[in-house]
Amino acid sequence: ATPTALMVATGRGAELGIFVKGHRALETTRAADTVVLDKTGTLTTGRMAVVEVAALPGTDAARLLARAAAVESGSEHAIAAAIRAHAGPDVPAVEDFVALPGLGARGTVDGRTVSVGRPPEDTGTLASRLAEWEAAGHTVVAVHVDDALAGLVALADPVKESAPVAVAELVAMGLRPVLLTGDRPAAAHAVARACGITEVVAGALPDGKVDHVRALQGQGRTVAMVGDGVNDAAALAAADLGIAVGSGTDVALEAADVVLVRDDLRVLPATVELARATMGTIR
Ligand code: ADP
Ligand code: MG
Repeated sequence: ATPTALMVATGRGAELGIFVKGHRALETTRAADTVVLDKTGTLTTGRMAVVEVAALPGTDAARLLARAAAVESGSEHAIAAAIRAHAGPDVPAVEDFVALPGLGARGTVDGRTVSVGRPPEDTGTLASRLAEWEAAGHTVVAVHVDDALAGLVALADPVKESAPVAVAELVAMGLRPVLLTGDRPAAAHAVARACGITEVVAGALPDGKVDHVRALQGQGRTVAMVGDGVNDAAALAAADLGIAVGSGTDVALEAADVVLVRDDLRVLPATVELARATMGTIR
């Protein structure tokens, strides 16, 4: 494309609600045949809300939540914000906070080691609650106190209204959508179903997201990856085209080639259309 055509396209992109870093991004957008989408904060609003708390017998649910909120005070994950909002202002202090991207967070609260994160394989008597919540599409996290399971927290995370529409348009344009998430399979499949996506990869740690992008590239695919989180940054950089959701974390915005300024996923097919029009007609 001529420099003028590219400038015009960049201007149109800005009108659509995308920020394109450099002109090569448009060429890659045209070439993309696969769109890998993160779940939390990308296909879903990421405005999570705690819907239920289940504590094991002998554990006080309110205190459990307060301790969980204490640990989450250092995390910028949507799960952390939801747990803090639900716990209210009366939260104990946390020491030795560690964030474990894609896994959760851990710290010392009231002299005990408290962790909040991905549920273990064996949740004992809480297993049926876990299954029920995940079938409903909720994200479920476990709270451990001194390495023993103390309870589960279920969080609702609504699918963006624009998600199924955008996915349908991408498919109509010949792109293959893939849902790639760190969340567990049941919750991932519920969201995928709501969005019209059949290819799902769940339980992927940040490195696993990179591995999956590379595997798709190894099959000869040109991969656009859309994500928002700290856990997506490496995969955004590894993809042929990294697309960050504008409300996402700074590291994701830095790693991306394109930023979706507007919180509407229909901008994705519109961007592909723009790239095809710009790159396809002018040589
Ligand atoms: P996604 O890929 O869908 O954006 P993440 O990789 O951010 O999801 O998180 C994957 C899983 O790791 C979550 O479903 C949750 O179980 C756990 N997790 C990550 N961060 C946190 C946190 N701050 N608090 C609790 N759990 C967390
Ligand atoms: Mg995310």
